[in-house]
Amino acid sequence: MATVRLNRVRKIYPNGHVAVDDASFDIAEGELLVLVGPSGCGKTTLLRMIAGLETISSGTLSIGGQVVNDVAPKDRDIAMVFQNYALYPHMTVAENLGFGLRLRGKKPDDIERRVRDAARLLELENRLDAVPAALSGGQRQRVALGRALVREPKVFLLDEPLSNLDAKLRLSMRVEIARLHRQLGTTTIYVTHDQVEAMTLGQRIVVLDGGKIQQIDTPMNLYDKPANLFVAGFLGSPAMNLLRGTLQQQDGWHLVMPNGTVPLGTLDTNPTTLAQWLGRQIVVGVRPEDLQPTSHATALSADVEVVEPIGNEVFLNLRFGDQALVSRVAPSQHVTPGSQLSFHIDSDRIHFFDPEGGARII
Ligand code: ATP
Repeated sequence: MATVRLNRVRKIYPNGHVAVDDASFDIAEGELLVLVGPSGCGKTTLLRMIAGLETISSGTLSIGGQVVNDVAPKDRDIAMVFQNYALYPHMTVAENLGFGLRLRGKKPDDIERRVRDAARLLELENRLDAVPAALSGGQRQRVALGRALVREPKVFLLDEPLSNLDAKLRLSMRVEIARLHRQLGTTTIYVTHDQVEAMTLGQRIVVLDGGKIQQIDTPMNLYDKPANLFVAGFLGSPAMNLLRGTLQQQDGWHLVMPNGTVPLGTLDTNPTTLAQWLGRQIVVGVRPEDLQPTSHATALSADVEVVEPIGNEVFLNLRFGDQALVSRVAPSQHVTPGSQLSFHIDSDRIHFFDPEGGARII
């Protein structure tokens, strides 16, 4: 096990493209850290630099206290699982699992023990003699994980390991990975573009966009206190409602938009910070669950365009002038499309952002 430390790590590809810019963070021993962001944000490049498969243009990377910038991948004591894992089709599960160890010249009884241990952990004991073609997709994925596991590395690097699986299998493998991590306690870095995977697996999450770290925090802190508009919009489904307007205070706080005025309530959280924004353009963020139908006449009045029931909850797609909004309600609400309803914003849970640059205000 090991602490991984990145200090101002940067990657410029030969064509001049800066794929990762000034990345600094630590991964604690035994931690499961998730790197998440949209396609092209630099997460694979970052992981490949940690693995040693990509050179580091500047900055330092250390594993277990040792700077490893110039250490060959095979000497970093890490194991990586890729999105497109390839099993050897002519080898059995046991041979696939043990292949890397044989290459490294491990003793046969050591290989046998490690393969048995991994097979037990991954519930593949009954499939050790099967060839990959005879396995289900989930079992193949577990063999791919097992090949990393048998190495007993200091650090696991997982690059979108579940993206080739169907939705149901992805869910069960997600639980499997969380369980394995709890059992083994190996320092793990997990790359995904899937926010649900990131939120459910990560003890901490690094959110990347355009090669830059946007925020590093626990899943709940990212959700409750997104550092900027990018993180606010990226995490949460349906996404946070973002309303741009002028902040006013008269009988409570209001956001004046071209469509009308949105009442924000009394906002007793931090009035001094917000007072500096009076009369100025601001972006107000409201999670769909914090926008609820109400019988109050002074609330925001919106047209219900589309009602999407998903079983345990219902998404109401609303229109407030030219602004689209989403409210997440309980199925017991019985809302019909085409109706006009009043909505209350939970003032304790409003997010405020600077429209220029997008940084969180409060
Ligand atoms: P995805 O989820 O699509 O895999 P990613 O977040 O993992 O994306 P990277 O693969 O790290 O992103 O790529 C980051 C950026 O660097 C992208 O804009 C990509 O086009 C660019 N890039 C990647 N490899 C190279 C390369 N060898 N030369 C030049 N640019 C590259």
